[in-house]
Amino acid sequence: MSSGKSTVTPMMAQYLEIKSGYEDALLFYRMGDFYELFFDDAKAAAEALDIALTKRGKHDGGDIPMCGVPVHAAEGYLLTLIRKGFRVAVCEQMESPAEAKKRGAKSVVKRDVVRLVTPGTLTEESLLEARRHNFLAAYALVRDAAALAWVDISTGAFHVMALPQVRLGPELARLAPSEVLVSEAQEIELANVVADAGAALTALGRGSFDSSLAADRVAEVFGVASLDAFGTFERAELSAMGALVDYLKITQKGKLPLLRPPQKEASGGVMQIDAATRRNLELTAALSGGRAGSLLACIDRTVTAGGARLLERRLSSPSRDLAEINARLEAVGFSLDETEFRSALREALRKVPDIDRALSRLSLDRGGPRDLTAVRNALEQAAEIGARHDDTALPARLHDAVARLSGHDALLDLLDQALVAEPPLLARDGGFIAPGYDEDLDEARTLRDEGRGVIARMQQDYVTETGINSLKIKHNNVLGYFIECTATHADKMHALSERFIHRQTTANQVRFTTVELSELETRILNAGNRALEIEKRLFAALRQAVLDAAGPLGDLARALSELDVSSALAELAAQEDWTRPVVDNSRMFHVETGRHPVVEAALKREGDPFVANDCDLNDADGASAIWLLTGPNMAGKSTFLRQNALIAVLAQMGAFVPAEKAHIGLVSQLFSRVGASDDLARGRSTFMVEMVETAAILNQADDRALVILDEIGRGTATYDGLSIAWATLEHLHDVNRCRGLFATHYHEMTSLAGRMAGVENATVAVKEWQNEVIFLHEVKKGAADRSYGVQVAQLAGLPKVVVGRAREILDALEQGEREGGKQKAVIDDLPLFSAMAAAPAPVAAAEPSEAEARLRELHPDELSPREALQVIYELKGLV
Ligand code: ADP
Repeated sequence: MSSGKSTVTPMMAQYLEIKSGYEDALLFYRMGDFYELFFDDAKAAAEALDIALTKRGKHDGGDIPMCGVPVHAAEGYLLTLIRKGFRVAVCEQMESPAEAKKRGAKSVVKRDVVRLVTPGTLTEESLLEARRHNFLAAYALVRDAAALAWVDISTGAFHVMALPQVRLGPELARLAPSEVLVSEAQEIELANVVADAGAALTALGRGSFDSSLAADRVAEVFGVASLDAFGTFERAELSAMGALVDYLKITQKGKLPLLRPPQKEASGGVMQIDAATRRNLELTAALSGGRAGSLLACIDRTVTAGGARLLERRLSSPSRDLAEINARLEAVGFSLDETEFRSALREALRKVPDIDRALSRLSLDRGGPRDLTAVRNALEQAAEIGARHDDTALPARLHDAVARLSGHDALLDLLDQALVAEPPLLARDGGFIAPGYDEDLDEARTLRDEGRGVIARMQQDYVTETGINSLKIKHNNVLGYFIECTATHADKMHALSERFIHRQTTANQVRFTTVELSELETRILNAGNRALEIEKRLFAALRQAVLDAAGPLGDLARALSELDVSSALAELAAQEDWTRPVVDNSRMFHVETGRHPVVEAALKREGDPFVANDCDLNDADGASAIWLLTGPNMAGKSTFLRQNALIAVLAQMGAFVPAEKAHIGLVSQLFSRVGASDDLARGRSTFMVEMVETAAILNQADDRALVILDEIGRGTATYDGLSIAWATLEHLHDVNRCRGLFATHYHEMTSLAGRMAGVENATVAVKEWQNEVIFLHEVKKGAADRSYGVQVAQLAGLPKVVVGRAREILDALEQGEREGGKQKAVIDDLPLFSAMAAAPAPVAAAEPSEAEARLRELHPDELSPREALQVIYELKGLV
């Protein structure tokens, strides 16, 4: 590409020069109303966007592949490209073609990249999900220490925590960032963890992570001399924060988004939940991938985008701080009891726009008039809420939030007076400043608008003067204002050529102007331009006024989110009849009539009731206990396991819970091993995945952990599986000493309850009726008497003959076990067993049934369609 300079046009030379700085991104090269892509970029984008690949000119003797997207529709295309894993460098024209011409006839318009768009650095409303954070994270390793820092530039949230590499996976699962920065040296090692979290990996050079430069880099963002004011940070933490700031500078081309001072998080502050557990419990995303069907979707009653994001964060990070949890519960409880307070609050909150994201766009100079009105409308509602409740006796959490809502009267007045109610999208078009706010602007606008009135009057005068009724004054971009009449009147007009100066003759029309008209035109044009200029200046001033208050406005936004979350959780508790949990430092786990909110909601849609169940994971002395849950498939074991885990999560996020009573001693870690899926991409079988996850639990669970294990060992042979399940339960009981729920289909294990103090048997009840099972979904103490696998298979529609045969084998096996357990002999003795194993058509082995006999008599060729149908009914009656 680089040789043959002589064949390179000046424009292509500029393109290649700019592109060389962005090898790993697609370059959107602005040409008039289009962004164009060339060479390999064009091929990749054309395919990804499904748009036409064409060519433009030649380079080195070959055609240059090209494709383009219109500027006005660029956001949609950008989103597609980012979703497909591309990064896009947006290169704009930095001057008009006219300006370029002034420098020389052949000069190329100056262009430069104004922004590198990556998954973690989006700010546009259309590119972001309103109800989710969009985190950019950086992981840094400095000697033996490591840290993770993350930022959401669309809201300004900025956090950092020390984090050993083994905890990186779970932490990324909690945050779900869209992009993770690592140093080149760690790129290969961390590729899998980052990919597992569903994030894009971006490797940066060593310089970006340099911990000695980092403190200054971060301090500069906040305009402070040192970071001391924000706390003390370890080298690794500084390195991770520094990398974020450096990357933001690179991608935003020097413009920095508004960031809040970095908040240090301690990893012990939240309930630890690993990635697999999060997935299994479907906390924020369903197993199918989307938000629908998740716990989050089920509990979300927030009415603002900021509230929705806070709710998602809370659910992803249940707290371990008792004071924090109880303060949140207190707030929810108040909102629940005070229905009027709640409904008025929610009514006002509904009108609150996304102030965080508006601020972020304004700070990056990507904002428009609607971002200003978003701030105004939010302030208006905030002031109203603040005023209504400043003397209400509120719990501390709500009181603090309400207190942060006021104090912006001056800014609110300013925005209120300055802005119209519903401004246009772009500042460029003007029309967003309210009349009466700026005298100069009003004057310019009057002139502009009056000019239009004057033109109407002028047209009337000319009609009278010339006697041509069809005479019109019109406007187009080439001629500006002109007087037009049909060609039939041309002579009449030419006779008045002293006044009417000929401009143009078209097929049917003749066009003129007058000295007055062109003077008026200049005045209108100038006034219009002047109005636009003034509006632009006022926009900049208002933007600055908002940004000057960015810190307190960020606090206000968080206060509104807090109010939204607590009243939304109260609304949920009221609608669904949930209860306030007692959360304390004990080892209790006591739930009365608990429910699984997602399953319950799904059943409700079908009109089926959910059977509530108790759970009590403490032995008689109050020490941790493990329930060993048996019962047939489909009885509701998994549902019961998960609902108790979810109740712990909900309680510690500060929400009410789906139960009549719940007493939860703080849970430090939540582990689950439920469901089984192959991880074929990594070459692991179901069993291997199961064992890896079980190993992690046994190695990590402490005595405050809550562990739920579903059907451990089912992925391997019976005796292997039973032995592993058995040993696992023993370890959990003796070594980990945690609270747990253990579902198994190995009935042999129920004898453990007698031997271990902290193990109790429980079973999900079923009723047997005429050889069929009826699921009662009731969990009660004791062991299941049998597994009902055959009956469940029958329900699932296994052929009758297979079900019958299975029942026969089962009876024989059970009888054999009762008589001394020699399975092999029992199997050999089974009637027809060997014959069946050899014969490919086992159905034929038994004596022909009535239906079979009837079938044999039939001659299909002799049957009419009607008779055939008749026979089918008849046969059906026989089976
Ligand atoms: P298992 O783990 O024992 O095979 P699941 O927990 O998967 O059973 O439950 C099977 C189905 O039974 C669920 O999809 C749900 O529709 C229903 N179910 C489970 N628990 C209950 C309950 N407590 N009340 C009503 N229906 C339930």
